[in-house]
Amino acid sequence: MESRIKIAIVPGHSARRPGCKNKKFNVSEFSYNLDVCRALFDLLHAMPLFQPIIFLRPPGGYKTAMEEMGKILNVYGVKWCLEFHCNGAQNSSAQGHEVWIHQDTSEKHRMAAKIINNGLGYILENRDRGVKLADESTRGYHFLNIPKIKCIIIEPGFFSSHTDTALLLAKKGQYIEGISKFIKIAGEVLF
Ligand SMILES: [Zn+2]
Repeated sequence: MESRIKIAIVPGHSARRPGCKNKKFNVSEFSYNLDVCRALFDLLHAMPLFQPIIFLRPPGGYKTAMEEMGKILNVYGVKWCLEFHCNGAQNSSAQGHEVWIHQDTSEKHRMAAKIINNGLGYILENRDRGVKLADESTRGYHFLNIPKIKCIIIEPGFFSSHTDTALLLAKKGQYIEGISKFIKIAGEVLF
């Protein structure tokens, strides 16, 4: 049991501020990803490699919340933290999956991110936007910059796109099942 790698799975945003919403399909990032994380917890827990926890973003401003989250996850001994989002853009034709990591993360974590990004493409067959490297000027930076923990943002598609939203709802089960397998493959590279 003790040799299991502690990983945190986090639905992006919060119940009060649920992130990007698609009104046509009446779904928000937080509600969708809370379901994803709950189901993923069971699948990851069944793997001898991981000891997963689900973690919800603490209240407060983004930077403060991420600092607080970093402190707590470090006390738990979490080594890898995966935050689940769905993208949003002004341009409703923007589509596809992408993954974000810190620009200064390790080579192994870059490989792990690539495996997860390729996995999203395999599962969802939507546009590949690639692995993106975050710096201080990009969104998600305070999460990705949490000390001592490898952090990754997973964006399977855009909730501002009806096409991607319909896809993510129709393939929710396949997404959860599929991403658990790619997280395992990526975890074996990382640890
Ligand atoms: Zn988001």
